[in-house]
Amino acid sequence: MNRTHALDRARAFAADSLFTLLSDWVSLDTGSRADDRKPSLTAYLEEKIIPWLASRAFETRIVENPEDPCAPFLIARRVEDKALPTVLVYGHGDTVPGMDDAWTKGGGPFALTRDGDRWYGRGAADNKGQHAVNLAAMDCVLQERGTLGFNLTLLLEMGEEMGSPGLHAVCAAEKTALAADVLIASDGPRIEPGTPTIFGGSRAVFNFDLKLTLREGGHHSGNWGGLLANPGIILSHAISSLVDQKGKILVDALRPKDLPRSIAAAIDKLSVTGQGGPEIDPSWGEPGLSAARKVYGWNTLDVLAFECGTPASPVNAIPPAAWARCHIRFLADMDPATFIPAIRAHLDDHGFSEVEVIEVPNNYGLATRMAPDNPWVSFVTASFDTTLDLLAKGPEKKQVSFLPNLGGTLPNDAFSHVLGLPTIWVPHSYAGCCQHAPNEHVLPAILEEGLALMTGLFWDIGETGGPEPDKETSKKG
Ligand SMILES: [Zn+2]
Repeated sequence: MNRTHALDRARAFAADSLFTLLSDWVSLDTGSRADDRKPSLTAYLEEKIIPWLASRAFETRIVENPEDPCAPFLIARRVEDKALPTVLVYGHGDTVPGMDDAWTKGGGPFALTRDGDRWYGRGAADNKGQHAVNLAAMDCVLQERGTLGFNLTLLLEMGEEMGSPGLHAVCAAEKTALAADVLIASDGPRIEPGTPTIFGGSRAVFNFDLKLTLREGGHHSGNWGGLLANPGIILSHAISSLVDQKGKILVDALRPKDLPRSIAAAIDKLSVTGQGGPEIDPSWGEPGLSAARKVYGWNTLDVLAFECGTPASPVNAIPPAAWARCHIRFLADMDPATFIPAIRAHLDDHGFSEVEVIEVPNNYGLATRMAPDNPWVSFVTASFDTTLDLLAKGPEKKQVSFLPNLGGTLPNDAFSHVLGLPTIWVPHSYAGCCQHAPNEHVLPAILEEGLALMTGLFWDIGETGGPEPDKETSKKG
């Protein structure tokens, strides 16, 4: 019984069983935006996950969603000893719609299919493959040691792709059942496909609309052009008072404060290349920042949609109104409740009092991040280093990348703010995985490496109880 044998089990599981397990989970359409979604979202828990957990001595309980009854939660607990530390694992079993007709690879969304170095299927990356890896890693430790050496609670959500309705409420209502020493979860992409990645939080999103209505109906531009103010032109100038032609944010209150030194140092170790996606425009965004600072250490203000007149069939008329949906990604030191008043004041100052600023309802959570010197970050990094030593095939050993926060957004404030946990995210996918699009896929090489890393991590937590300082400060009753 030892760590190396647990890793052997992980390797064997990745080679022999992971595809079968994931095929079964992918075969159930769990698109959470469909009208008749409740039966399949519940079936994923009742038919796929609960039997798997029950045979590993988990107590399981489906929790109704207080905000969307179609998307239940699962809370599953394996309690070995109340004196041991508890790890909370989170995942989501719902997916975006299958988009069946648009797939050009694999066997369509619900038949996991091998093709070269990829496995295609809806949810393979987001998020079924990621929680499959974590549960399989837990199982490798259990098989090898007979016990985990810690308590494990799984929270599985079935509405993440609809914006996680009810997640914060359930975390608040189930605080005792979800009490833990740390959250360890997997979602999102690695910084590069070949680079084991840890991130400690995420930026958050804030959407708002700008709207200007000057009159009812359009008016012939030959008779009225030059006499009637054009709301499209005024609104475009209002937007350009907020953000300049190179994407620099011009509203002081929307620009982040200086980064803490340790966060800045962690970000400056990262390189962002675009990973085979579109070419990065180096002149875009805040001047003087590296690409990594722009994505992980700064805010963005973008326009998602802009409408005036009738874009599908323009007519020669002065349009009566214009509208834009604007979008902010922001860092953990920002209070989104201040954004609308700041934008209002800025527009008033710049002569755009008639432009309405409208918050999109329920559109934001809080941004979160962790410092690189958090004891859990050091612990997980050291564990991964040990495993990567063993996996190294030549003299070149992989280095772990740590991101204080992801550039994208996760509902991590439910865990960091509501449950008060340190949060460790270990993504098992990559940015080119086509999540939320046709041809979603995973790279089995990442799943295999991820399974080894997570097995080693769960082994080490069971062996040592996790990092020292947390054991002292976070004992739960
Ligand atoms: Zn997603």
